[in-house]
Amino acid sequence: MAEFDYDLLVIGSGPAGQRAAIQAAKLQKRAALVERKAVVGGVCINSGTIPSKTLREAVIYLSGYRLRSIYGESYTVKQNITMDDLLFRTEYVIRHEIDVIRHQLQRNGVETINAEAAFVDPHTLRLTMVDRSGERTVTAANVLVAVGTEPTRDPRIPFDGQNIFVSDDILAMKKLPRTLAVIGAGVIGCEYASIFATLGVRVTLVDRTRRLLPFVDAEIVEALDYHLRQNRMTLRFSEAVSGIELAPNGTETRVKIHLASGKEILTEKALYSIGRTGATAKLNLAAAGLKADERGRLKVNANYQTEVPHVYAAGDVIGFPSLASTSLEQGRLATCHAFGVEAKSTPALFPYGIYTIPEISYVGKNEEELTRANVPYELGKASYREVARGQIIGDSIGVLKILFHRETRELLGVHIIGESASELVHIGQAVLSLGGTIDYFVNTVFNYPTLAECYKNAAFDGVNRLNG
Ligand SMILES: Cc1cc2nc3c(=O)[nH]c(=O)nc-3n(C[C@H](O)[C@H](O)[C@H](O)COP(=O)(O)OP(=O)(O)OC[C@H]3O[C@@H](n4cnc5c(N)ncnc54)[C@H](O)[C@@H]3O)c2cc1C
Repeated sequence: MAEFDYDLLVIGSGPAGQRAAIQAAKLQKRAALVERKAVVGGVCINSGTIPSKTLREAVIYLSGYRLRSIYGESYTVKQNITMDDLLFRTEYVIRHEIDVIRHQLQRNGVETINAEAAFVDPHTLRLTMVDRSGERTVTAANVLVAVGTEPTRDPRIPFDGQNIFVSDDILAMKKLPRTLAVIGAGVIGCEYASIFATLGVRVTLVDRTRRLLPFVDAEIVEALDYHLRQNRMTLRFSEAVSGIELAPNGTETRVKIHLASGKEILTEKALYSIGRTGATAKLNLAAAGLKADERGRLKVNANYQTEVPHVYAAGDVIGFPSLASTSLEQGRLATCHAFGVEAKSTPALFPYGIYTIPEISYVGKNEEELTRANVPYELGKASYREVARGQIIGDSIGVLKILFHRETRELLGVHIIGESASELVHIGQAVLSLGGTIDYFVNTVFNYPTLAECYKNAAFDGVNRLNG
């Protein structure tokens, strides 16, 4: 008789958990996936990645954003866009994605348990069944903690989910506001701020930092900054929020935001987006001999093992980069390690996608990082408007920039802002991962007309700069 009920018990059905459980099943291991929500998919499918990206796509389509440069600023596909218009598409995609994941889990023989898990000891977990049928105790040789994160909330702020809300509440919004303040200009804050601004909502984006997205190449961020302001967004940097209150205004409610500098922002709604905290509070980590940091996160080694070697952690609960893409890969790698299967991966060269409007994506080093490291680099740039595809699709603002070593011509980084940036970046990622040089772009033939031709133009630009 087996010593444990399962070879692997996964807590959390987001990207990390799904991929880990399926990988275990593919290795013929007894795997179970515990999820406390009624549906599988985690934050990724139900409240984060998929809703935000589908809302964005719906906004871009209905607002006519893509074709405004051709047909004029007043062009729209639909007048008076409502929250229902946006939710129609979003709910359809969410339902479909949940179904795909459920089928994948079933096909691979992963047992899915709808319960909240908490440690009893390092190999034993108590599962509190969501259908109120009671509790169950299970044992597992290996455990993967893939519980993800929850929006960080300041207890002094009167969140009501409608006027003052966090990103997980967006799908519950009944009506599009006329004005919106977004507090926190991280990736999520910037994405939603730009989505609402594209709809014509007057958005104010507030952050403590001196610029948007400090980890992104400065030139790309400058371009984003410019386009956000063009979209009538107000950017308030170096501003700390000292208080947020609901301010009744006749039959309506307003939100008043107090800034430490003495300014006030009066707005219809406020999105509070200052980060996310690991969802570890209810796991009873101490019983497993573990402790989360002050942001609820777990520390792991390169194999995704916590300090208790058979307890693994993957996905957002381990912190940076906190992406669905990397979480999927971490889940797979954790399972492979648990069962002694060699798995190769190059997670260091993952691409970063930021789905603002316009979209940003990059891979490798940026100019500031290379300068700090004293790397003698050169750059090459191409504008979307210089390639025929850019004209056809009406993107006159896109830019693709490559960074390469002046002596070896080795590609060091690719930075893109504009339509399909998050797709285009993978060409650069492949060249970068294979240690290629910019000569690949010079000598290869791209489909015509495509945005990918920007790589060739950028490489020619780079060669010209080398030649002075
Ligand atoms: C608004 C937004 C936009 C985003 N956009 C992108 C994007 O464009 N691209 C990208 O790559 N990433 C994006 N992300 C990040 C992405 O969603 C996360 O990186 C990803 O979901 C993390 O996956 P995960 O497996 O760690 O867990 P999650 O997806 O967070 O899922 C964790 C699951 O664990 C469950 N759980 C927690 N505790 C327990 C317990 N005790 N017992 C049972 N179940 C439990 C939760 O209910 C949840 O379902 C976005 C995130 C947000 C919030």
